[in-house]
Amino acid sequence: MAIGVKVMKRPERQVSYVRATLKGMVLTFKHMFEKKVTMQYPEEKSTDRDHGMGEWSISPRWRGTHRMLTDEQGRSKCVACGLCPQVCPANCIKLVPGEDEQGNRYPLIYEIDEFRCVFCGYCQEVCPEEAIHVGVHFENSEYSRDRFVYDLERLQSQTHAVSTLWDPTDPRGE
Ligand code: SF4
Ligand code: SF4
Repeated sequence: MAIGVKVMKRPERQVSYVRATLKGMVLTFKHMFEKKVTMQYPEEKSTDRDHGMGEWSISPRWRGTHRMLTDEQGRSKCVACGLCPQVCPANCIKLVPGEDEQGNRYPLIYEIDEFRCVFCGYCQEVCPEEAIHVGVHFENSEYSRDRFVYDLERLQSQTHAVSTLWDPTDPRGE
C-alpha cells in the first residue's frame, strides 16, 4: 500500500498570541465545571459511591495477590498435586508435598513470591481443587521485600474477592 505524505505549510499571516492564550484559558475554565473523572486515592476508595459518577469498582477479572481457599474444617483445599508450580511461568511457587496416614496429600510448605509473580492466573486456571486463586486486590504495600513471600497461613487468611479470570465465552465480562 502506497503511503501518502501531507505537507503542512506554516501560516503566512500574523497570528495573535493573545487570542490563542484566551482560547486556552477558556478551555481550562470550562474543565473546572465539568464532571470529575479522577479519584482522590487513598482518601477516596473504589467502593465510595458518592461522586455522582456511579460506582468506581475494580473489574472482577482483576488479577492481584493470591488467596488459598479452605474447606469446612479450615484446612487448605490444596492437595499438593504440583500442577501450579509446574505451570507457573515465573517459577515463583514453592511447594513441598506431604501425606497423612490415610494417604491424603497436603502442602507441607506452600509459598508464593508475589514479587516474582506476573499475575497470569495460570495457577488458578490449572488447579483441580479450585484452591489457589488470584485475588481482586491491589493494596499490598510492605516495608520489606521478604513480606511479599506469602506462606500458606497468609494465603489462607486473605479475605478479598477472588478473580473470575477471563472467560472466552464472555470476553467482555457481561
Ligand atoms: S499468577 Fe502466574 S506467575 Fe503468579 S503464581 Fe500464578 S502461575 Fe505463577
Ligand atoms: S494446583 Fe491446586 S491442588 Fe495442585 S498444588 Fe497447586 S494449589 Fe495445590
